Order: sequence, then structure tokens, then C-alpha cells
Amino acid sequence: MSTVNPLASRWTDAERRALRRRLLAWYTKNRRDLAWRRTRDPYRIWVAEVMLQQTQVPTALPYYVRFLKRFPTVGALARATDQAVLKVWQGLGYYRRALNLHEAARLVVRDHGGRVPDDPQALARLPGVGRYTCGAVLSIAFGRRLAALDANAVRVIARWLAVREATDAGATRAGLWRAAETLVPDKTPGDWNQAVMELGSRVCSPRQPNCRSCPVRGLCLAFARNLQEKIPARRARRPIPHIQVGAGIVWRRGRILLCKRRADAMLGGLWEFPGGKIRPGESAEECIRRELREECDLAVTVGRHLLDVTHAYSHLRVTLRCYHCRSARGRAKALGCDATRWVRPERIADYPLPGADVRILEAITRAARK
Ligand code: SF4
Repeated sequence: MSTVNPLASRWTDAERRALRRRLLAWYTKNRRDLAWRRTRDPYRIWVAEVMLQQTQVPTALPYYVRFLKRFPTVGALARATDQAVLKVWQGLGYYRRALNLHEAARLVVRDHGGRVPDDPQALARLPGVGRYTCGAVLSIAFGRRLAALDANAVRVIARWLAVREATDAGATRAGLWRAAETLVPDKTPGDWNQAVMELGSRVCSPRQPNCRSCPVRGLCLAFARNLQEKIPARRARRPIPHIQVGAGIVWRRGRILLCKRRADAMLGGLWEFPGGKIRPGESAEECIRRELREECDLAVTVGRHLLDVTHAYSHLRVTLRCYHCRSARGRAKALGCDATRWVRPERIADYPLPGADVRILEAITRAARK
């Protein structure tokens, strides 16, 4: 079987050298002074790379600063509770990233003496460390010659090579990785990876890339063929479902019931106002009564409507229809969740909550002030 990568072979060696030279020169002049670029500490770089997956730089920055203030070393993170980690991560979304990072920190302490491994195989064995994170951390922190392809880099390289196939298809993505590997220089591989991503973020944007000010325009096949707006192609996406959920603000003696979501569920480990998906033909009130019975073995009286909250996730839109409820007696059992707790309203903010539940809590607080 041929080992030649048809994508990588679209470049000559001279073109690769020119591409590196021009892009690195541009990066040296134009790189943003970001907190994680002022360190070679692999832990700090790792935290940044995890946060930057699915999250824009301006959103991630304050979280990064707060997270490292609270957990300045891999040991400090390893010693923390899941709940403390989730609380600091609250609002950043994709909470599995935080739980994986936390578990990985424990393994680094247990198996690597508290030092982030500089070996790709050892690092890739840690939870949540995929090919991108592994390449980014090792190239930036340890100068290992590895590629790191995030969404920005995929777009940039697909345009450089005029790749018309869908870049989220497995074979095309594998070809892009191999092509990317041929570009990484021996010296400053971390700068190179960051330069490609920086170009994608600031010049080679998804729509209307700023080709006029692009330092590598002369080597870009998409520009030469006027294909930049057509690349990257993606496979057709299914429409995002929108589900309706009934959520109960269940009161008893001045406290409100919170349920901890199952560890293996979406938003696992976070606390929420209990409820669930409204079934066809069911009202929100009926749904809340049924869910409380099934999830907590609790009988509730549903009262007045508080608000509706719509929240968008990457693959799902959810509208939570929230009602005040009362529960007179009975233990709230954790049947459909990991734990239940009756909490004074002013203490609910101490718990890690999903974004939609933060908005419900704000409405409860506003209503209490009236
Ligand atoms: Fe992107 Fe345009 Fe530069 Fe090509 S020339 S890399 S399409 S910004």
C-alpha cells in the first residue's frame, strides 16, 4: 500500500519551507499576548488547551485565570473535589472536559510523580487527552515535533490545499493530519502550531477570510482558485432537536430541592431543579408531578408558573418550563439522580449548576425581592 499522502504531496519541499518562514514571521509580529503564552508550564498550557476546545479565547480567558488561581498546580487540582472543580468551571460548558482534566490530574500525581508526562503515549492515555490536546501540549511545552489540528487549523490547511471533500469525514481528516505533520518544523513546533491556529482565528476566518492581509496568500491553493468561501465543506447536519422539559422549584420549610445529575449523564455531577422531558399529550404540571415521583419518590403540589428558560447546547435546544411546587412530607430519594438535597435559596449558588438553572435561580432571587 502506498504511504504517500495525496494531500501532503500537493506541496513541494520549497513551498513547505516558504510557508513556514512566512507564517512564523507573521506570527512573531502579530501574536496576541495571551496568559497561556507567557508560560512553558505544561500544566498551565494543558488547562488552556482543554478550555479552548469548543470555547473562544475571550470567553475562556477569565475562566483560565480563575481556575489557575484556585488550582495553581496539578497537585492542587488532584486534591480538589469534583464539586469544587465544576463550580469554578460553571458557565464554560462541556463539563466533561473539567471532570476529565480533574481525573487526569489525579493520575498524573499517582502515576507520574505530579509531572505532566512528555511522552505522547503516556499523555494520550490520560482521560480527555485526544490527539489535538496531546500535540498542542507536547509541542508548546516540550518542543516535541507534533501537529495540533483544532477547527481553525483544519480550515486553514484545507484551504491551503484546496480540499473540496468534507473535512469532518474520517478519511479527509486523517489526510489533513498527515499533511499537517509534514509541515511542523523541527525548531519551534509549538510556535508553528499556534501560528496556524492564530491565522485561522484572526485572518482565515470561516466566512469572508481576509485574504488581502494573509501572509501566505501566495501559497494558498484555495485563494489561487477562488475557492476560499467554499472550503471547508462539511457533511450535511441533522436539524437540532428542541425538547420541552418540566422543572419543579420544590419548596419545603424555606428550602428548595436540588438533584445531582448522574455522573454518566449529560451535565453529569451538576445540580439542578428536578424535572424531565414532557411526554406527548402531557402538560408541564403533569410532567413535573410524574418526574418528581419517578426521580425522587416525592409527591408534590404544582403551583404557579415561574418562567420558561430556553438554552441551546451544541446538539440540542431545551426549553425548561419552571413551576413553583410544594412537598409536605416524605424523603426525597435519589432514584433517578445521584443525590438530593434541600437547600436554602441563598446557598444554592454554592452548588455547580447548569447555565439554564443559573437563570432559574436568578428568577427565584428576583421574585423573592418583590
Ligand atoms: Fe485563508 Fe485566504 Fe490566507 Fe488562503 S489566502 S490561508 S483562504 S486567508
